[in-house]
Amino acid sequence: MSGKVGQSEEQACEAFVAWLDHRVVAAGRGDGLDRLEVSPSGTFWLGRLACEDEVRKGAGDERSERLDPCAIGIRLRPAAAPSWSMTVTVRARAWVQDSKDGPDPERRWWRSDLVEEPVSVLVGTEGGSFGRKQLADAFAAVGAPGLSAEVRVDVEDWHRETELVVQLVNTSPEKPPGLTDSHLYETQLEISGLPTVSFKLEALPDSFRYERDVPAYGVNVGVEVLALGVFRTSDTVGVQTYRPTYWNVTNTPPDLSFVTLAADPLPQLAALIDALAAYDDTHWSPAVLDARHAAKGWTPMMRAEADRSASEVFAELDRLRTGLELLRTRPAILRAFQLMNKAIARSAQGRGYATWRPFQVGFLLSTIRFLVEPEDEARYVDTVWFATGGGKTETYLGLLLTAAFFDRLTGKTMGVTAWSRFPLRLLSLQQTQRFADALASAEMVRKEEGAGGTPFSLGFLVGQAGTPNKIVPKTDSDDVTPDSPGMPDKYQVLLYCPFCRDENLQMRFDRERWRLEHRCTSATCPTKGRALPMYVVDQEVFRFLPTVVVGTLDKAASIGLQQAMRGLVGPPQKLCPVPWHGFTYAERSAAPNGCLVPNCQGGKVLKPLPMDPKRFGPSLRLQDELHLLRDSLGAVDSHYESLLDHLQAELCGTRAKIVASSATLTGYDRQVDVLYQRQGRVFPQPGPQAGESFWTTPTAQPLRRFVAVAPRGVTLEHVSDRTLDTLQRCVRELVNDPVKVCAETGINPKHASMLVSLYGTDVVYGTTLYDVEAAGRSLGSNNTVEGINVEQLTGQTDFDEVRAILERLENPEDDFAERIHVIAASSMLSHGVDVDRLNTMVMLGLPLTTAEFIQTTARVGRKYPGLVYVLHKIGRERDAQTFRHFEQYVRQGDRFVDAIPITRRSRRVLELTIAGIVGARTLMIREPASRQRLSTPAKLRDYVRDSGMTPAAEAAAVAMVLGFKGAEDTLHQQQIAEWLQAWFADLEDPTNKATFISELGPRSPMTSLRDVEASAPIHD
Ligand SMILES: [Zn+2]
Ligand SMILES: [Zn+2]
Repeated sequence: MSGKVGQSEEQACEAFVAWLDHRVVAAGRGDGLDRLEVSPSGTFWLGRLACEDEVRKGAGDERSERLDPCAIGIRLRPAAAPSWSMTVTVRARAWVQDSKDGPDPERRWWRSDLVEEPVSVLVGTEGGSFGRKQLADAFAAVGAPGLSAEVRVDVEDWHRETELVVQLVNTSPEKPPGLTDSHLYETQLEISGLPTVSFKLEALPDSFRYERDVPAYGVNVGVEVLALGVFRTSDTVGVQTYRPTYWNVTNTPPDLSFVTLAADPLPQLAALIDALAAYDDTHWSPAVLDARHAAKGWTPMMRAEADRSASEVFAELDRLRTGLELLRTRPAILRAFQLMNKAIARSAQGRGYATWRPFQVGFLLSTIRFLVEPEDEARYVDTVWFATGGGKTETYLGLLLTAAFFDRLTGKTMGVTAWSRFPLRLLSLQQTQRFADALASAEMVRKEEGAGGTPFSLGFLVGQAGTPNKIVPKTDSDDVTPDSPGMPDKYQVLLYCPFCRDENLQMRFDRERWRLEHRCTSATCPTKGRALPMYVVDQEVFRFLPTVVVGTLDKAASIGLQQAMRGLVGPPQKLCPVPWHGFTYAERSAAPNGCLVPNCQGGKVLKPLPMDPKRFGPSLRLQDELHLLRDSLGAVDSHYESLLDHLQAELCGTRAKIVASSATLTGYDRQVDVLYQRQGRVFPQPGPQAGESFWTTPTAQPLRRFVAVAPRGVTLEHVSDRTLDTLQRCVRELVNDPVKVCAETGINPKHASMLVSLYGTDVVYGTTLYDVEAAGRSLGSNNTVEGINVEQLTGQTDFDEVRAILERLENPEDDFAERIHVIAASSMLSHGVDVDRLNTMVMLGLPLTTAEFIQTTARVGRKYPGLVYVLHKIGRERDAQTFRHFEQYVRQGDRFVDAIPITRRSRRVLELTIAGIVGARTLMIREPASRQRLSTPAKLRDYVRDSGMTPAAEAAAVAMVLGFKGAEDTLHQQQIAEWLQAWFADLEDPTNKATFISELGPRSPMTSLRDVEASAPIHD
């Protein structure tokens, strides 16, 4: 083939993806098969049409019709008045079964020749049927007498404008004569000769940014526009997206390499801002908006939205200018920024990138003011909106390290700079590793540059079955001891050494220091065999208060139960005199001097804190995947966020800045207000047109090909199995006969082994664990290709297994037969599993949220062209709707995102959270202030009497914490008051059997923010 010699890797991938898709569609339709041993109606899922009688006799509702439809069609808007004329070309085939003594008794089903009939249509407002005899004759002529079909035209005008629905309907009898199957196969409809006008999408929010014209809609199919006025049905709906580039103006981009920004950042940053200012003027000035308004026929609402967006765009520009000015005038900020760049340069070494994307620097500039005006800036939640492309983790890390260095340069020599939270179990080992890499590099820079303070370190704080809360010397419960099964290896969190990247890490439990350690065994490692600055046991996090704590959101619940969580919002109490014991907290029977090391021999004389206690409060709280904080989880978290703010304000007089990332902006302002009681601010602002802004624009390089499939007549599992089977068959053909496949696909054979590697592992993604497990099982038993190796990646998969699977994906076995061929995954995959070798996906039904769709599919095609089959559960109304609008759904995903359902006013949730708030206030504010132990009811009772604490006063304080302070909050205030009366009654009741204060009151504090049914909707 011409051009094959100079074919690039990417072109080879493109050709291969096109071939894969072609083969999958062919397998779905039955293209190219002559004979079949099994019934075609139980095999094919595309292009088939059931007969109308059968569909009518079934449940007869819309749903069952979608599951096995009897018609496909195209909906159009005619340009002229009736009557209308057009040519409708019908294509179809039949499958007929031979009698038992036929020519091929093993494969009795045979496929007819193609019926291809142009049907002339002339129709008025009453609609009509056409071509019935012509089509029946044509079926008889190919050996399937008795089959019949017609072109049916309905005229509808309930959408104000007249619409024509042109359909091919299978009118065959349910039992055609002979042994013919009553389905039609490989059906297609093509319309030409009718002048049409486009549909206009309704003016949804933000419409001024979007293309609103849709030339035609498919009925049970997709539609392709072949030429002006020529429309053809397609069995699947394919949507190609393109890889973004991160610079969208003609000026040469400034040099935003880490090295340059470490040395001399100001000129480059100034150039970036100048380019942004010029772009904003070109696209957002009133004159430009006037012109677009006129040209595109904007409604007044659209214009108002455009004006509002323009003012936000200019506000963003101002924030960037402020950031630059601070770098110019505040030496500590400049230095922190430079050291951060130096550290990032180091951690990026050898990874193929050495420079920031402009939007990442933009975000840093727009946010950096919080370092010098923490109080003012804490009023806003700054959110990285990452629909435009990857790089959010690096963006976080840039901000984290800048803050960490700034802390060191301004006298915060220890303690937590940032607490970074990921929803539920979505924190991945790869993400944790990236944090560790960045902090290790920062630590080396800190040392070299003499930035002062204690070494930078990382803590890992996750709930539920991750790593231990504590390690005890011996136990009769399920606590972990140094001798527990799997200790210490099973708690390895890092994949390799963050200092030298050597993979030979060793886990060790140091009994003397009572520490669960990661150690690097490389002789050349800068750590020289000492423990890595990485803390994975909760109590070690409290003892050492690492610079950055990374963990899952649900862990915040411990704040209501665990007094040592104080270190994450404020100061610990003291330091243990034993050097490696770390910070101490309140005294307990198991910790008589407050030291968390079992049987500490440090004695009662503790060392004072070596830093101003007020500086222990963290500067930053990060929230990843903000859009997932919804429903009950969002409601519960909103109360705990208020509690964290309250505790830090009481203990340090400061407020942490909150920075988040989100895949969606719909309803963002309200979500931020409910969750954090702060204002939302998004970076980057969306551009003047969808998918394009100063910061990003699509290139011509393919990113992902999305293929919507509406399976017909067979189960979703069958389609998923057959699709994966075909994908695996194709790759095996390439493995076994590269010369033949390369010739067939026009691929230069030198790319063959790369393609085997890049397309040899398919992902099957299920939105429920049940789906995932079923997919894994059925593939194991149902495939026609031999030896498909399936592995699962779900929330249930153990850490060490995840680690082993990732390792195999990153470094596949030499022999293709030994590799992982299919990964059956749940949403666990969509967060931080970054493997460039994953490029094909089969999605079992649409995920519940558009955000999950966007993120999950982003796991494939990260670097090479991806292919995603979205199998719609077409019986569901939502899937059916999305199938109709699939192109818009993929291209304009964000507008299809529903506003996030969230409230802080759920009284059911309040019932769950009061205990944690009361508990935290007791443990973290009252107990340290009282200089005595308040952990048991007896001691607390004495304290309450002495201090004059009353139910009413405490109820008022709790209501204040939660922001229930208005007249409209009377019910909530009353609920809190009643709860506290019960709590006080328990406290005063001498017969109460509570041993710990957490057992007082109507219920105990939550142990995890997930202690609420996650699926239940929550209302005010
Ligand atoms: Zn090392
Ligand atoms: Zn100690």
